[in-house]
Amino acid sequence: MTIAESSPVAAPLAPEAFAALAARIDGTITTPIDAEWDTARQAWNLSADQRPDAVVAPSSAADVRATLLFANEHGLRAVAQGTGHLAGPLGDLADSILVRTTALSSIEVDATALTVRVGSGVLWGDVTAALAEHGLIALAGSAPDVGVAGYLLGGGVSWFGRSLGLATSHVTTIEVVSGGGRMLRASATEESELFYALRGGGGNYGIVTAITFRVFAVRDVYAGMLMFPLERAEEVFSAWELWTRDLDDSATSCFRLLRLPPLPELPEFLRGQSFAVIDGAIAIEQGDGSGPERSAEAAALLAPLRALGAAIDTFGVMPASRLGEIHMDPPGPVPGVGDGITLDELPRAAIDAVLELAGPDAATPLLAIDIRHVGGQLAVPAADGGAVNSLPGRYLLYAVGITPTAEAAVAVRSATQAVLEAVAPWRSATDYINFREVSAAPERLYRTDTLARLRAAKRSYDPNNTIRSAHPLD
Ligand SMILES: Cc1cc2nc3c(=O)[nH]c(=O)nc-3n(C[C@H](O)[C@H](O)[C@H](O)COP(=O)(O)OP(=O)(O)OC[C@H]3O[C@@H](n4cnc5c(N)ncnc54)[C@H](O)[C@@H]3O)c2cc1C
Repeated sequence: MTIAESSPVAAPLAPEAFAALAARIDGTITTPIDAEWDTARQAWNLSADQRPDAVVAPSSAADVRATLLFANEHGLRAVAQGTGHLAGPLGDLADSILVRTTALSSIEVDATALTVRVGSGVLWGDVTAALAEHGLIALAGSAPDVGVAGYLLGGGVSWFGRSLGLATSHVTTIEVVSGGGRMLRASATEESELFYALRGGGGNYGIVTAITFRVFAVRDVYAGMLMFPLERAEEVFSAWELWTRDLDDSATSCFRLLRLPPLPELPEFLRGQSFAVIDGAIAIEQGDGSGPERSAEAAALLAPLRALGAAIDTFGVMPASRLGEIHMDPPGPVPGVGDGITLDELPRAAIDAVLELAGPDAATPLLAIDIRHVGGQLAVPAADGGAVNSLPGRYLLYAVGITPTAEAAVAVRSATQAVLEAVAPWRSATDYINFREVSAAPERLYRTDTLARLRAAKRSYDPNNTIRSAHPLD
């Protein structure tokens, strides 16, 4: 029997039927008959029109278990959502319970063991702030309002990625309620196959309630951005690509073609302007107080790019806790369509292909094309890592546009696909799950042997296929 054949099939459950679940949990339940329904079902990505049977906001792991047992009893499916950054591939969620983990918000820092245990509803910005008080950092991504759970379950590419690898490879314990309702701890020594599967297999196995991961004694970093007028895109893109060829693993950076909308909340120098941007971070500390002397080395490393003469140059020593500011990700929910893939190479022809579609002479509805430099430790399979223990390729490309209307969504989807098709000749064998914001065949996300292992774990831990995820395995 395949996973798809074993999926529960159910008629939509009447809102009143959730009263039985309400009596069993401390958290809240919102159904289509409630005034708060539209707020409760809303994802961070405002283009996602999520229509589950109910939204449950558990306040404990016991609530999560009760919810999953209820789903099993009624033949419903369940999907966990911290923020809804990756809501795009989920679809409309018919016959499903959306489990909103926001209230699972504890953060326990162990500054001696250099670990932090966080509830699965926690956002990166909150972890970063809690750790900064101890002079510690975690491997957060570019946006502070991304959820810890989705990011870690998919991989996690941070500004320290090339020096410290994928964030998921630093996870030590995952507390999860399996699809069948078992409360489990997964680690190297407990439910080790589940531990392997969760680290990269996304949310396919259960609903994670807490995650413990390693943190690092780092206060400062050499980071910032260089902004050039979009007209200089060709020169800057080429210089950046050249710079990345034999670059030290301490530097993790991104080249971007950025067209900012004329939003009143943007500062005037950015509002409605277009740029070629290089942003990134160079690690200058290794927990040994070596920061000050290594900042001169970092400046020397950046010198070839600085020599281009940016219009705006913010690179310098800064608190690592402020890295969430450098990429200028949207500060809150937006409607958007995006998609991304990894590239093995970025030859001249690939640069030309991207510039033809989004360079200064192109008319495009895209807000940004980001090309992150990966490789380094991100390419080295982590010892005892999970299903995603490294990233293939040398670059991670992501194209995105703002989609306030259905027409805009059509235009952006088509522009995004055009970019991905234009660079297809250099595409890596597998993509990075967290950057695939549309449905993707599992064979595109995992190697054949990894996928077989993930599917076997799915059959053991979620035999009824109760759990829906952004990237299912079937
Ligand atoms: C603006 C922006 C910036 C980004 N920057 C980066 C970056 O720098 N580096 C990077 O690697 N990625 C980045 N991403 C991608 C990001 O890692 C993914 O979108 C990630 O899935 C978001 O996690 P979330 O929990 O916020 O999202 P959600 O949409 O809430 O969750 C995504 C999926 O994860 C699973 N999931 C979430 N919570 C649970 C849980 N408790 N139990 C089980 N499964 C769960 C579910 O399958 C869910 O569909 C960015 C995305 C955006 C939109």
